[in-house]
Amino acid sequence: MSRLIEHLRNIGIIAHIDAGKTTTTERILYYTGSSHRMGSVDDGTTETDFNPEEQERGITIFSAAVTCTWRDTTINIIDTPGHVDFTAEVERSLRVLDGGVVVFSAREGVEAQSETVWRQADKYRVPRVCFINKMDRIGADFQRTFQQIKSRLNANPVAIQLPMGAGSPPDPQAFSGIIDLIEQKAIYFDVESRGENFRTEEIPAEYQEAAKAARSQLLEAIAELDEQVFESYLETEDIAIEDIHRLLRQGTISGQLQPVMCGSSLDYIGVQPLLDAVALYLPSPLDRPPVQGINMTPKKQGEVEVRKPSPTEPFCGLVFKIQSDQHGDLCFVRVYSGVLKSRSRVLNPRTGKKELVSQLWHIQASSREKVDEVSAGDIVGVVGLKETVVTGDTLCVQQHPMLLESIVFPETVISTA
Ligand code: GDP
Repeated sequence: MSRLIEHLRNIGIIAHIDAGKTTTTERILYYTGSSHRMGSVDDGTTETDFNPEEQERGITIFSAAVTCTWRDTTINIIDTPGHVDFTAEVERSLRVLDGGVVVFSAREGVEAQSETVWRQADKYRVPRVCFINKMDRIGADFQRTFQQIKSRLNANPVAIQLPMGAGSPPDPQAFSGIIDLIEQKAIYFDVESRGENFRTEEIPAEYQEAAKAARSQLLEAIAELDEQVFESYLETEDIAIEDIHRLLRQGTISGQLQPVMCGSSLDYIGVQPLLDAVALYLPSPLDRPPVQGINMTPKKQGEVEVRKPSPTEPFCGLVFKIQSDQHGDLCFVRVYSGVLKSRSRVLNPRTGKKELVSQLWHIQASSREKVDEVSAGDIVGVVGLKETVVTGDTLCVQQHPMLLESIVFPETVISTA
């Protein structure tokens, strides 16, 4: 599996509980080929919810990192809990991811807990794309949810898709597909083939006006990001597709805008374009600011140490989750700099103890892949660390001890809006 850092995306699927985060993750795992067995949230057999407590309760409480591949992109999905009681857990996951897919329910719109998770993502400056899910539900309203993202979350959503209809058959206005505002095409997904088959057509006459207006809004939002593009947009009233993608990427990574998409993950509609958006617009570890820590060498104790996401830097990583299963404790580590090798020793600067890294694993939805080493930017499960290692600990090379910024957990704040 190619794990070039440019092609790596460490993402979280962030959502209010019940918005469809688990179903969307499940569909992503289905399309990326990691999941060979279909699972359903309703009967508790999804791939990411492998903790029995989660399966029983049907909510995702604990984070788990799952690796999958979409075209030439490797996606590490760090599962972020959506339940408000687990805010500290959400924050810990947000700390290690580079981008997020925020799932909203088109029926319920932006809810109090969506605001909580959105603000947490703001705090860690996590670039986001938005997915307005459940378009097949009666009462689904894309525009209302879109406006709420703007007003309640104080965000800069930019629609790159529009839904055709809402609700489900026999309603003649039922959700039937998606208008791609960039390519200016209508896409109809075949539900029977789990969305694998789809056809593209001209935008139907009744949606042309809305699509034109939404496309103008999209172009205006991105033209502002580039003076040259802005000038030519004024003349031609259009922007080349490569420039649209480039500026959407630039705007998303800088936090100036959030592309908005839609679909029904239950019916496999819209999930493949969502994966394309993850690859196209969300950052690789190289696009993120270098990590900072505190130097722990006697000479430079307390000085700020900056580590670039490069394999040539000294190794440092953060333990963000410890999960126990039949193989023992698996410590999930985000590697920020350098290379982490199996059968090597690293330092835990908090305890001052040396730790043996005996095995490294990449966790797929239903299998594990043992690896010899992992480079800066990646996420890996480590076997062999002592019980004294806790989540939030830094691991580093002994010659260059440093402590990554410790994670500060504020009191859980429940938005009352
Ligand atoms: P989570 O709590 O955000 O992880 O949400 P789940 O993925 O568990 O979904 C909550 C419920 O909504 C489940 O019963 C799903 O089957 C259902 N659901 C998820 N996505 C959709 C969708 O696009 N359309 C419809 N109709 N139901 C959905």
